[in-house]
Amino acid sequence: MWRRGALVDFEALRAEMVARQIEARGVTHARALAAMRAVPRHAFVPEDLRAAAYEDRPLPIGEGQTISQPYMVAAMTAALDPPAAGRVLEVGTGSGYQAAVLARLCREVVTIERHVRLAARAREVLAQLGLTNVRVEVGDGTLGFPQAQPYDGILVTAGAPAVPAPLRAQLADGGRLVVPVGGASYQELIVESRHGDRFTAEIRDACVFVPLVGRYGHTE
Ligand code: SAH
Repeated sequence: MWRRGALVDFEALRAEMVARQIEARGVTHARALAAMRAVPRHAFVPEDLRAAAYEDRPLPIGEGQTISQPYMVAAMTAALDPPAAGRVLEVGTGSGYQAAVLARLCREVVTIERHVRLAARAREVLAQLGLTNVRVEVGDGTLGFPQAQPYDGILVTAGAPAVPAPLRAQLADGGRLVVPVGGASYQELIVESRHGDRFTAEIRDACVFVPLVGRYGHTE
């Protein structure tokens, strides 16, 4: 009998995605891998692109924006390594997928998006999946979201010209800030850690993100 639900085994596609695209490239963070196996990425992409949801690439989500490549989501989540009892800020909600992955790793996620329609759609999908520990806000995330600071981790999923100063200020002691910094065509993933009033920085993978647009980001 022809059954619609039997056409694609998304769980199997996810397991394969994690094995081939993520573990094979050296991501070993067990909680990040488990979250990537669990979160239904296809729920966060436009309906006509669902079949491509587990492919090794970013996909368009409307408003000229993209859901990041699975490997990038895993690598950034592993770099952030949020404490299970912690609160995390994500700048650039987009589809809500990265927020959903983070929501499985920590107590609370605040995510901020400048496009109202993307924020509304992300809120809807996150609610459908029963992820009640994610709060989606609309606004300029280069200013952070001071109402819920401090954050044990801050993850920026758009390319910044420099680390936005308000994000450093809203980071808890011992917290980590993960942000792609560079020009329009490519960036480097920067991981900053806060030790009191001191910050140490590490440079990780080269990457390509849509621009972070805002007061402490690029101009429109
Ligand atoms: N994390 C997303 C992918 C984000 S793409 C996901 O999992 O799908 C980057 C997003 O950052 C875009 O949706 C873009 O609109 C948003 N963005 C860019 N500048 C921003 C800013 N200053 N504040 C909040 N969101 C911003």
